[in-house]
Amino acid sequence: MFKRKKILVTGGAGFLGSHLCRKLLSQNHEVICVDNFFTGNKDNIIDLLDNPRFELIRHDVTFPLFVEVDEIYNLACPASPIHYQHDPVQTTKTSVHGAINMLGLAKRTGAKIFQASTSEVYGDPIVHPQVESYWGNVNPIGERSCYDEGKRCAETLFFDYRKQHNLKIKVARIFNTYGPNMHPNDGRVVSNFIMQALQNQDITLYGNGEQTRSFCYVDDLINAFIKFMDTDDSVTGPINLGNPTEFTIKELAEKVIQLTRSSSALTYQTLPNDDPKQRRPDISLAKEHLNWQPTIALEQGLEKTIEYFSSLINASERQS
Ligand code: NAD
Ligand code: UDP
Ligand code: UDP
Repeated sequence: MFKRKKILVTGGAGFLGSHLCRKLLSQNHEVICVDNFFTGNKDNIIDLLDNPRFELIRHDVTFPLFVEVDEIYNLACPASPIHYQHDPVQTTKTSVHGAINMLGLAKRTGAKIFQASTSEVYGDPIVHPQVESYWGNVNPIGERSCYDEGKRCAETLFFDYRKQHNLKIKVARIFNTYGPNMHPNDGRVVSNFIMQALQNQDITLYGNGEQTRSFCYVDDLINAFIKFMDTDDSVTGPINLGNPTEFTIKELAEKVIQLTRSSSALTYQTLPNDDPKQRRPDISLAKEHLNWQPTIALEQGLEKTIEYFSSLINASERQS
């Protein structure tokens, strides 16, 4: 029988959070969205504000929060390198203090708690594809460290709260995900390439473009979040969530040019420090425990994302 749950989504006005809030509301649950709007945007959730089962709280998770809920999805944290490197101390605080506060909340209320961890915990990986048992190759004092080490420490906290306080935890290591509601200027590769292609600007390949990533469409990922939350309490993760089909960044650029029928040319720029050379999830655990695997191929997902960014560009042209 259906049981309506009260669900907290931190970072709910961001890219992934806004899709998650929408999906949970469509399943008839009550959703409390908490966001400080650092990288999130009210436009992402504007259509939800009239829903009586939806509540928005402007709040920074590095401060304590007292609400009564059955489940918590902890997504609050800037995710793109330019955003998380803008104020690296605040990034680590968001991951670490944010995790402590949300775990404290879960401890007091008995709520199940999901953590949006990341493939970045593997750093520049030597083991390929990445399996959850791999400990990673992370620089503790580099440009990416505030994000990578913050997320690693959050994982430690999740597992120690489980050991000490018997919390019901679900730790997901999310791999590169894309789709509508991505921030157009967040510097991530999919948003950059599509925005550049649609405006016939040069496509900026960092390094030689031979580094690889594996891109998951957002709808597939959100389905996995909910399946994971619904697993038995013994299933804690960490579990990799992502699409195991791997592409070079150059292949991605060529696909975007083809799908947008753009006249953009490729240009080569310096590769940022510590940029991982390869990344692909091993999703055997997700298949086994969640009975999940992605269903949306890159081309299909890119078409929907291109449509979204085109409408953003058209809207801003109408305004100017
Ligand atoms: P996003 O930047 O669009 O969303 C993050 C949201 O968190 C934003 O709405 C932002 O305003 C909010 N936020 C940031 N700091 C906060 C704070 N201190 N208090 C309250 N809210 C705060 O990023 P996203 O892509 O939606 O990522 C969501 C989560 O998933 C992040 O934790 C990220 O690390 C993780 N993740 C995402 C990806 C991906 O490919 N998108 C990959 C791995 C992990
Ligand atoms: N906390 C919170 N909401 C709650 C319960 C706790 O934000 O509903 C915060 C609390 O302020 C504390 C943190 O979560 O800083 C960790 O809580 P815990 O109970 O583990 O630690 P303690 O309060 O004993 O330091
Ligand atoms: N990248 C690129 N051009 C861009 C933006 C990114 O070549 O305009 C590269 C980047 O160097 C990295 C890959 O694309 O190798 C993915 O970058 P993104 O910032 O999207 O994610 P992450 O590095 O965190 O996986």
